[in-house]
Amino acid sequence: TAAGVPGRVRVAVRLRPRNAEESTADADFADCVELQPELKRLKLRKNNWESETYEFDEVLTEFASQKRVYEVVAKPVVESVLDGYNGTVMAYGQTGTGKTFTLGRLGEEDTSARGIMVRSMEEILVNVSRETDSISVSYLQLYMETIQDLLDPANDNISIVEDPRTGDVSLPGATHVEIKDEQSFLELLRLGEAHRIAANTKLNTESSRSHAILMVHVKRSVLGEEVAIPTESDKSSHFVKPPKPLVRKSKLVLVDLAGSERVQKSGSEGHMLEEAKSINLSLSALGKCINALAENSAHVPIRDSKLTRLLRDSFGGTARTSLIVTIGPSPRHRGETASTILFGQRAM
Ligand code: ADP
Ligand code: MG
Repeated sequence: TAAGVPGRVRVAVRLRPRNAEESTADADFADCVELQPELKRLKLRKNNWESETYEFDEVLTEFASQKRVYEVVAKPVVESVLDGYNGTVMAYGQTGTGKTFTLGRLGEEDTSARGIMVRSMEEILVNVSRETDSISVSYLQLYMETIQDLLDPANDNISIVEDPRTGDVSLPGATHVEIKDEQSFLELLRLGEAHRIAANTKLNTESSRSHAILMVHVKRSVLGEEVAIPTESDKSSHFVKPPKPLVRKSKLVLVDLAGSERVQKSGSEGHMLEEAKSINLSLSALGKCINALAENSAHVPIRDSKLTRLLRDSFGGTARTSLIVTIGPSPRHRGETASTILFGQRAM
């Protein structure tokens, strides 16, 4: 499996518990999936007597805690970011299956409810030095191939800058906020969410139609090689400056992807059609890049969408990537669930 291997995508599947409607109205339906977490297997029911079995790096049942989900999905990525590598955690799935629950919950009243964004920041904050390291954050929405700043709504068309030599991707036009403690981070997430709702009301769209992208930039100073200190008797040696600490930069990208449900292109017109096309474009470009990585293909079609261009330096190579695919239990959405499972399978 891809577990722990940089450059490969680690894939987990998470099942959302039945919601109120699913537990009452059709309480007698059988879930469309059956999970075998200890075998890391999932069975997708075809009918009453047949099912298809799939293996994942991790299978998270409806009872999996937020803490456990963080530990298996995100923690290895965060640790490698602390070591100086870039990393990405993405949530993919149909709207309503738990992407935002998994990544974005703040858990203000109940810290056990905290999602991956808050837990990652907690881990980063306890591991860096307040004196010599720095953490800054940008929070963006990618909608119809346009990047908007969720920390500054007036800033609604940010360009991606790629360093042709190093391949590094940056967004110099985006707001970068320095994070000193957990409280300031929670406030920033709340502000970003409020701006996201406002922006989407203005654009007359749902937040499930856009990608939310949190970028955490970690700068750590690491001491360079030790320098010999000149002695009294060593007449030849000149004044030697103390070793200058080297700055090591890395980046953690957390992506709450747009809902993966097939958007009806046939019945849509005008703006809705354009929106549908753009979501299909970015998710299918992402899928192609992930497949290319899984197959070790030389050609990763990164240029096909803004989403994949943004992820260029945090994806493949020395970067560590985790994908969590979220599904619901209802047989009514079996088709969407099957296509989500397939997306996850192709990444492995
Ligand atoms: P998405 O972001 O994929 O559209 P949400 O994260 O908004 O989905 O989840 C949809 C609903 O299901 C929310 O009310 C959320 O609180 C609930 N939910 C999702 N996952 C879980 C879970 N693992 N446990 C309990 N409730 C969940
Ligand atoms: Mg959501």
